[in-house]
Amino acid sequence: MLLKGRGALNNHNRVYDIVLLPGDGIGPEVIKEAVKVLKATGNRFDIGFNLIEAPVGGTAIEETGSPLPAETIELCKKHKNILFGAVGASKWDDLPSEKRPERAILGLRRELNLYANIRPIYLFPSIIEYSPLKSEILKTGIDIIIIRELTGDIYFGEPRFRKITENGCRAIDTAVYNDYEIERIAITAFNIARKRKKKVTSVDKANVLETSRLWRETVNKVSKDYNDVVLEHQYVDNCAMQLILNPAQFDVILTGNMFGDILSDEASVLAGSIGFIPSASLGGEEALYEPIHGSAPDIAGQKKANPIASILSVGMMFKYSFNMPEADKLIKNSVNSVLEEDFNTSDSSCGNCKIVDTETMGDLIVEKIKKM
Ligand code: NAD
Repeated sequence: MLLKGRGALNNHNRVYDIVLLPGDGIGPEVIKEAVKVLKATGNRFDIGFNLIEAPVGGTAIEETGSPLPAETIELCKKHKNILFGAVGASKWDDLPSEKRPERAILGLRRELNLYANIRPIYLFPSIIEYSPLKSEILKTGIDIIIIRELTGDIYFGEPRFRKITENGCRAIDTAVYNDYEIERIAITAFNIARKRKKKVTSVDKANVLETSRLWRETVNKVSKDYNDVVLEHQYVDNCAMQLILNPAQFDVILTGNMFGDILSDEASVLAGSIGFIPSASLGGEEALYEPIHGSAPDIAGQKKANPIASILSVGMMFKYSFNMPEADKLIKNSVNSVLEEDFNTSDSSCGNCKIVDTETMGDLIVEKIKKM
């Protein structure tokens, strides 16, 4: 199996281990740019990195027969900080579900107990005109954090099966939540809200689902310890509408696994493109950072991928794993500055802007990081 160590940069003040899981499609293309930004930012703060690359997804299937080899899990457990690209492609679509590349994502979340997914939806001031919303709705900008529960709900619940009945084929998935799972993700959301505008919108479907009724009760209980944070509840269908009508009302959105999956993709469009949204998955000792997009097979190998979501994921690693919010800020300011000069990749509907390829976008951001 291919496990590449890229050597520690020992002449630095501190050296952190990072496992790179580039994966499939545009995954390796965007991770390459993210690593350039990681190193440039590290140099500014006198930090070095020991980068260990391991296979995951379809690439791992080709090498080992498994989308998530045991050695890859071991490396993640040992080195703690993980930078993930994306997995999946139609080539592996006919495999049984437990052998498909996407199984690697669910497997990592379960193995590493990454129950809290943090997705900042931020519209860079320099690209407000690329958002599909009218400018009067965007007057106060968009700055939302979606906190998505990541290890429960219908994606993990049992039983799940198909069976042939006398009426044809029947498929079952099961939504499950325990109160302790809701409690710990609610605590994450309230703690993050406390450092921001102090508002949590909890999203559920409590008018229909039993899991959502438990969700609402538990979030209400947790909120009693956070009197300084305003809590409101919204049904998921209303929230989907409110995100378009009045995104400025939101600060922190707290929601379950499936609703969070859908709402964060919807919200990403408000920020100009799915190629701008990073994420952090936290839980126990390990932390995984990844763009929210997939492997984009339609543009893979064409140098069209927007690397900014992966680059901002590196910023989140500095903030959450290395406790260096100033490094995260440097990366965000550098991205904003490049966008301000009207450079963009082809996924943004930016009219007359200067379209650059994946690598050039990475280089432009690195240049800003060196000079800012
Ligand atoms: P996708 O996110 O890969 O692509 C959706 C659309 O957005 C495509 O048109 C794509 O070209 C575009 N896009 C995505 N990221 C982009 C970027 N950085 N720059 C420019 N354009 C970008 O979602 P999909 O098409 O539904 O799925 C493709 C594959 O990815 C599937 O195999 C799916 O299972 C997998 N997937 C993986 C992850 C993950 O690894 N975390 C997440 C979602 C989907």
